[in-house]
Amino acid sequence: MKNNHYSSIGEGGKLRIAIQKTGRLYDDSIVLLKECGIELRNVKDRLKTESDNFPLEVFFLRDDDIPQYVEDGVADVGIVGLNVLHEKCREVDIIEELGFGKCRLALAINKNDEYVANYLQGKKIATSYPVLLQKYLHENKITAEIHEISGSVEIAPGIGLADVICDLVSSGSTLFMNGLKEVETVLESQAVLVRNKQLNEEQLKWVEKLLFRIRSVKKANRNKYILLNAPNDQLSKIFQLLPGMRSPTVLPLAEEGWSSVHSVLSEDEFWEKIEQLKAAGAQGILVVPIEKMII
Ligand code: ATP
Ligand code: MG
Repeated sequence: MKNNHYSSIGEGGKLRIAIQKTGRLYDDSIVLLKECGIELRNVKDRLKTESDNFPLEVFFLRDDDIPQYVEDGVADVGIVGLNVLHEKCREVDIIEELGFGKCRLALAINKNDEYVANYLQGKKIATSYPVLLQKYLHENKITAEIHEISGSVEIAPGIGLADVICDLVSSGSTLFMNGLKEVETVLESQAVLVRNKQLNEEQLKWVEKLLFRIRSVKKANRNKYILLNAPNDQLSKIFQLLPGMRSPTVLPLAEEGWSSVHSVLSEDEFWEKIEQLKAAGAQGILVVPIEKMII
């Protein structure tokens, strides 16, 4: 009886999503599904699992393999870094930037070197991203030797394997510890949701449902619910600062001449707005996380 209504999605009757098995994208991918209200059975140490409350089957894979699996239709959708996706040159549709796994593919040189014009010309560059690096060199009319290695790229200059590296950087602390400094960005990356290009109508319908949930979660994470008290004669000033989703909610306080104002505030403008609200006479400001946001 279970799953009968989903029988036309995928082979097992469910939408199939590929996510990283272990590594930097694993936790955030699982949290995202959870925030979307998708409960997974017994996640750890498995090749695949499924959800009982959403027609979803989850495959745990190496991130390098995800673009191909989605292109081939072994998985319908996948979560993978843009860096891996572009390196693998697979034909899939990017349907949403997920806002985690942020990093950049960057060129780094010995920190004591001066980065002069044409510095890269003729250099030996170590990387795990030969395709992206080659494209960058071509676009910038640089001729350099690419030395492909599969990991620990940052140690290459130290052991005399290369002069320059092209590697993923987020905080820059690994570069710093290895006596390197970043000089160019090859690609800005983050995790994205990708989709197979030949999904049928039923599969697309469930991808849309998943996407709707993901977007609601992303919006909620970017926004806070704010409650404050203000004297009535200051309300118009406060409304200007807090437009809210449509307009703020206003409730009278038991104390005459005061109101409670409720609204939604984006994370980006949060601190600036709080200062302005205080200056406008707001008191007792409470800020609460939002779980989902449907507009
Ligand atoms: P796998 O075993 O799945 O192949 P991996 O070792 O290739 O894993 P991870 O190091 O877990 O990959 O990184 C996965 C992805 O996380 C990267 O491809 C990139 O998109 C993203 N990422 C974010 N920040 C960083 C960073 N500082 N260094 C490396 N990857 C990062
Ligand atoms: Mg990998």
